[in-house]
Amino acid sequence: MVRSINIEEITKNIREMCIEANHYLSSDMDAAMKQAEQTEKAPLGKQILGQLQENLKIAAEDMIPICQDTGMAVIFLEIGQDVHLEGGLLEDAVNEGVRQGYTKGFLRKSVVNDPLIRENTKDNTPAIIHTKITAGDKVKIKVAPKGFGSENMSRVFMLKPAEGIEGVKNAVLTAVKDAGPNACPPMVVGVGIGGTFEKCALMAKEALTREVGTHSDVPYVKELEEELLKKINGLGIGPGGLGGTTTALAVNINTYATHIAGLPVGVNICCHVNRHVVREL
Ligand code: SF4
Repeated sequence: MVRSINIEEITKNIREMCIEANHYLSSDMDAAMKQAEQTEKAPLGKQILGQLQENLKIAAEDMIPICQDTGMAVIFLEIGQDVHLEGGLLEDAVNEGVRQGYTKGFLRKSVVNDPLIRENTKDNTPAIIHTKITAGDKVKIKVAPKGFGSENMSRVFMLKPAEGIEGVKNAVLTAVKDAGPNACPPMVVGVGIGGTFEKCALMAKEALTREVGTHSDVPYVKELEEELLKKINGLGIGPGGLGGTTTALAVNINTYATHIAGLPVGVNICCHVNRHVVREL
């Protein structure tokens, strides 16, 4: 049986989710920040973690964005194949939701219409939209506004298969070291291993939306997440890049099949606000 959803529902939810994501730290990130403040060894690092949380608290209380860079709106849609969207085009509905969220929510408009002509579109559209068709009659929406302080520090490495797991670890650590303080640590590190050039980057991006504190279901990937988090926190970059034992709050890894001749690795770094809101319609 097909379930009809009016496209206006998509617009309304995305509008609300853009505002929510930009004003309130998600509960998983909040818990991770609190935990980091407890465990951080460097006095300055501890102090910075406290200040970052104070800033987040004031933002939530006074309805101020949690960061001045309110990001480019990245939207993941999982659409059940038994859903019929009616009343207009999905892409238009998503962009209208972003437009309304960013204008009605007084969020900074950070999108330019052309990468070289660079005129601001003044409503933060277009969004970056990733759509997947799934089983069932539900629509799952993830809104993840992405700031470019950390986006600019992200990388794709096309490794040779012989480089193996050590090559993967080296790639992730290289990306994090190169990012240093520029990605506003403590960071969340999204990693995509396998697939193709674009698939590994997309997996890394989506990995950032997985709840911090959860792990991959694949035993060796879970171990890799834990090992890399430990190694990253041993780099000493620390909160705000001013030194300490908390450089990252999580390493989230997604994997996919790949070609016999390749080992693509995408590393998408996100900062301590790592905005992500999920709803199911
Ligand atoms: S990287 Fe994150 S915290 Fe830093 S300026 Fe960008 S959005 Fe803000």
